[in-house]
Amino acid sequence: MTASVEIKGWCPGARRPMPSGDGLIVRVRPHGGALPVSALRELAEAARRYGNGQIDLTRRANLQIRGVSSETLAPLWELMASLGLLDDSAELEAIRNIVVNPLAGLDPAEWVDMRPVAAELETLLASDPALHALPPKFGFALDGGGRLPLTGLAADVRLVACGGTEARRIAVGIAGSNDDVWLGTAAVTDAASTAVHLARLVLQHSPTRRSATLQPQASAAIRAELGLDVSNAVATASATISQRRCGVIALTDQTCAVGLGVPFGRIDSGTLARLAAMLAAHDVAEVRLSPWRALYVAAGAVTAEQLAADAARLGLVVDDAGPLMRIDACSGVDCCPSTGLATRQHAGLLADAMARTGFNGTLHVSGCAKGCARSAAADVVLVGEGEGYHVVRNGTVKSEPCGMLDPTEIDVDGLFETKEKADV
Ligand code: SF4
Repeated sequence: MTASVEIKGWCPGARRPMPSGDGLIVRVRPHGGALPVSALRELAEAARRYGNGQIDLTRRANLQIRGVSSETLAPLWELMASLGLLDDSAELEAIRNIVVNPLAGLDPAEWVDMRPVAAELETLLASDPALHALPPKFGFALDGGGRLPLTGLAADVRLVACGGTEARRIAVGIAGSNDDVWLGTAAVTDAASTAVHLARLVLQHSPTRRSATLQPQASAAIRAELGLDVSNAVATASATISQRRCGVIALTDQTCAVGLGVPFGRIDSGTLARLAAMLAAHDVAEVRLSPWRALYVAAGAVTAEQLAADAARLGLVVDDAGPLMRIDACSGVDCCPSTGLATRQHAGLLADAMARTGFNGTLHVSGCAKGCARSAAADVVLVGEGEGYHVVRNGTVKSEPCGMLDPTEIDVDGLFETKEKADV
């Protein structure tokens, strides 16, 4: 296989990897958000052999293999192709930007198993070349409800299971400038074709080809052209939402899911290989990816507890109470030429300060104002500038800062104390 590749500086794929400070970033997009454990093990080995051994879990439920070179890209493609994870073209790969619930088909509390809808949507997207004009960040969220809904996940097209017990339907929405705009409901069997129709209409009506920039009159025109049933209210099974995302989540009396959080969304190939071996030893065949930088597996109740304990020993997060899963940190100086700051090292120190002070909010540590690791607001945001950080409270990297932080004082507890005390 010849690695003839067009390299762009945005939104990495496998066919179109993104150059970074540590080499090419190659994105792996599992189908339906699921990977066989055997494939996970092979990807871990590939990251060591063809990359620099570092793997990211992305907020679109994908994996990224880092540090790939132009020489090692071709053998990596070969491996991905053998695992059914390489699309025929960069365009096809880019529009296959679909997230489903990580417990789809496993969670008895879900309203609709969205995996068949996702598979049909993939096929429909691939069959229409006009849809290749969708921008690479154009995303679909397919939310069947249950314990781990996709609430809050940004998406251009959103399909959400709704309706009464007797008549499950799919609420169809688009991202608005502030909130989702609901356009009506469709039968489950029509959900994928409706999503594709909607994507075509967004292409037609939005100057940026993204839903969030549609003008109100354009949204109204799309609603009219789509012609969905608007008689049903959007009502989801919110009572079943799990209070935790990491650790053991009971599904039935006998079965559980285990959420395995990956600190800052980065795992090394050795740890991932050991995790795959441990899962295989417990007869776990499949792992699910999520938008929360956590992997999910299903197991019997006793095995699940053992799995969680073993995963914790590997450094994975199995307890939501700790600060690590409330911190987003970008790659920093080792991987990105845009900063000289060791963001992840600083984030680790700040995690200790969060634990010491009992701070239970969110933290975003960004090497520069691009804010790659998080677009949503956080309680505390550090934005790299030169050799220090601007401090933002309750905002994003774009918000007005209220002070500066010197990295040599990075473990100052005052950052997480009250606004009055935190004179930074
Ligand atoms: S936020 Fe800035 S420093 Fe961090 S990875 Fe993105 S571009 Fe690099």
